[in-house]
Amino acid sequence: MATHTTRMLIIGSGPAGLSAAIYAARAGMEPIVVQGLQPGGQLTITTDVENYPGFRDVIQGPWLMEEMQAQAEHVGTRMMWDTITSVDLENGTPFKAYGDSGDVYEGATLVIATGAQARWLGVEGEQEFSGKGVSACATCDGFFYRGKKVVVIGGGNTAVEEALYLTNHSDDVTLIHRRDSLRAEKILQDRLFASPAISTHWNKTVMRFVGEESGGLTGVLLKDTQTGEESVLATDGAFVAIGHSPATELFKDQLDLDEGGYILVQPGTPMTPIPGVFACGDVIDHTYRQAVTAAGTGCMAALDAERFLATLDFARSESRSVQTVSA
Ligand SMILES: Cc1cc2nc3c(=O)[nH]c(=O)nc-3n(C[C@H](O)[C@H](O)[C@H](O)COP(=O)(O)OP(=O)(O)OC[C@H]3O[C@@H](n4cnc5c(N)ncnc54)[C@H](O)[C@@H]3O)c2cc1C
Repeated sequence: MATHTTRMLIIGSGPAGLSAAIYAARAGMEPIVVQGLQPGGQLTITTDVENYPGFRDVIQGPWLMEEMQAQAEHVGTRMMWDTITSVDLENGTPFKAYGDSGDVYEGATLVIATGAQARWLGVEGEQEFSGKGVSACATCDGFFYRGKKVVVIGGGNTAVEEALYLTNHSDDVTLIHRRDSLRAEKILQDRLFASPAISTHWNKTVMRFVGEESGGLTGVLLKDTQTGEESVLATDGAFVAIGHSPATELFKDQLDLDEGGYILVQPGTPMTPIPGVFACGDVIDHTYRQAVTAAGTGCMAALDAERFLATLDFARSESRSVQTVSA
């Protein structure tokens, strides 16, 4: 068991955490990144990434995250292979985080970048065809289905937004929902029903993703929830849109969360109500959820944390000099 101290402790090693680390290291803050169970974050489970700026050709998600980590280490970040199991934010700086390994991490500032995992259906073929026809992100992968037939699974705002987004690329979008009405906001439903490119399959659950090992997804096996009848709907791409789960269990008693479990920050900033604690990336973002936006807010968190510490250091040095003069 060891205690690791740093001027900036970062929990999470996705694009948000690693971008924060790059900025913090370059500001001389000698950051520590605790990587968690998914070093590199969500992009490590995808293949083609075509929308991260700076690369003309399609790049691979795992490769991008290896490069990001190498860059963070190159400028002086310490990476820790550990998972945080509890945190103590209530007693102010230094903030304490306790690792699964038994190690303790103390940060003069804390950056939370624990992300949000897409919810999956958990049915056969989903993992097998993930990245080969099955996706949880239309903004990320819709472009790969230009002119093709796609389905979206879900009935809430996310599903309707994904279906509408996909009409930019396809004029054959089917929304599959297990009930006979949607939970999505009325305005979104109006837009969905007005779109000639979108049709709906009501009262259907997806039993299995169907395809060929070499060729990828070819369809989805559906079961009618009323009649029990099974049928295969042919498709080139399937977008699972049943929501996301932000990784905020650790913080729920110490920080304010919204109804979806995302950490609440001051609008337009990564600042939480606790001075010195910042949150960035998907863990604060139920709207954009992109690698580039996560990296952007990671950068903001590091810059704000650096300013916070500079102000604190200055205040401490002033108070010391006042004490010296009066003594
Ligand atoms: C299949 C798929 C494909 C995608 N494709 C694209 C794309 O093409 N383009 C794009 O821009 N975006 C894409 N995205 C979205 C993108 O991956 C996310 O927006 C981005 O990864 C969010 O970054 P983040 O750093 O906030 O969180 P994440 O990437 O989710 O990283 C969270 C990190 O926190 C760590 N963590 C969690 N809990 C703990 C803990 N208790 N202790 C320590 N560490 C912890 C995890 O191990 C992980 O390292 C895709 C997402 C998925 C799922």
